[in-house]
Amino acid sequence: MPEQRRILRTELPGPRSRERHERRGEVLPRGLGTTLPVFVERAGGAIIVDVDGNHLIDLASGIAVTSVGASAPAVVSRVRDQAAKFTHTCFLVTEYDGYVEVAARLNALAPGDHPKRTALFSTGAEAVENAVKIARAATGRPGVVVFDHAYHGRSLMTLAMTAKDDPYKTGFGPFPGQVHRAPYAYPLRWPGGAEKCAAEALAALEELLAEVGADTVAAIVVEPLQGEGGFVVPAPGFLTGVQEVARRHGIVFVVDEVQSGVGRTGAMFASEHEGIVPDLLCTAKALGGGLPLGAVTGRAELMEAVHPGGLGGTFAGNPLACAAALGVLEMFEDGALLERARDIEAEIRERLSAVQSPWIAEVRGRGAMMAIEFVRPGSLEPAPEVAKAVAARCHAQGVLTLVCGTYGNVIRLLPPLVISSELLSDALDVLAEAVTGIDVRPEPGAR
Ligand SMILES: *Cc1c(COP(=O)(O)O)cnc(C)c1O
Repeated sequence: MPEQRRILRTELPGPRSRERHERRGEVLPRGLGTTLPVFVERAGGAIIVDVDGNHLIDLASGIAVTSVGASAPAVVSRVRDQAAKFTHTCFLVTEYDGYVEVAARLNALAPGDHPKRTALFSTGAEAVENAVKIARAATGRPGVVVFDHAYHGRSLMTLAMTAKDDPYKTGFGPFPGQVHRAPYAYPLRWPGGAEKCAAEALAALEELLAEVGADTVAAIVVEPLQGEGGFVVPAPGFLTGVQEVARRHGIVFVVDEVQSGVGRTGAMFASEHEGIVPDLLCTAKALGGGLPLGAVTGRAELMEAVHPGGLGGTFAGNPLACAAALGVLEMFEDGALLERARDIEAEIRERLSAVQSPWIAEVRGRGAMMAIEFVRPGSLEPAPEVAKAVAARCHAQGVLTLVCGTYGNVIRLLPPLVISSELLSDALDVLAEAVTGIDVRPEPGAR
């Protein structure tokens, strides 16, 4: 495990990373984005060591994936053992224990005490697509309802479900039809104010269902805490309301916990904070501890609606990924990592509450899924240039942060749950300094 300390040996990116990044431009298409053009040599815990010997503090976890750390011993040893035995059979061809064991664990962990089944896949988008397929098979209806600011993936069906055009959807249409969008209860930006947010968002959902015909809708798909859309925590009561609306109309209630699930928010699933019980629950990102694994866990009667042979994929539930997931789930067993996620939230809130800046509209989130939304002083006008500048200052100081939000004006913090308080505190000092030191002038003509 690399020393858990921020160490800057060169400017960032350093010369070796710059050289490699230049070569990349001749080999890869520009459509593949990059947050920080630094090449990684190794990583462990909450530290990424680059090819120039810099130690960066990881507040991204590879987008909420390495929640148990970048090379957790419980994951690495299982993957190593599994690789020595066999790397692949295709579960649709011949079976193995790891797949069944991961499914059994997810059935036990997912909210609700009804009988469940789990099918494994390789990515989050694949999990969401399959949830839609299952909901359609179970209801015989075609429609899908999603929300503003939603992110569900980059495959064509999930792009139809994802809200933001640029960069995800631009030029890639047409997308599958019968995907309808309702407002998400985003308290900060709700026109009628945060108080009325949940009730008015639910009324808008009912109106949409009346318009498109509730009996044409197979699934309502919702993130319990939005990810790419800006780490939006919905107004209290919104999610239980959506669940109630879905049940009343015989619509499958699908909860996309690809980003918020598997311990990230201080509970195994963000659904637990709200007391909702998904009919179908989608997980991925943190589930495989860095190996590609996605899952749909759901009510047995819905999952069994699909005919034999209707689900699966060549790599779906790969044995190495299943071995890794068993290591991840074991690490959550004693509850210490969940408690750590809640402590991380408290540490972030405390440090950021001391930061006085007219650019900060809100610090929000749950557990180790926290964010700062930036606006122009005295308004709600998004300030993406500030988020970008803050991220750039953090990057230059060796703290890896990500930007998100429909308006690109949100800095999100996704540290591995194994980050020490000392390391987190160092990173937050850098972040706080980046925020208070920011000098962005309103553009000419802007308020
Ligand atoms: C990342 C993400 C996805 C897509 O997962 P991939 O593994 O990138 O396909 C879907 N839903 C949510 C909420 C996500 O954050």
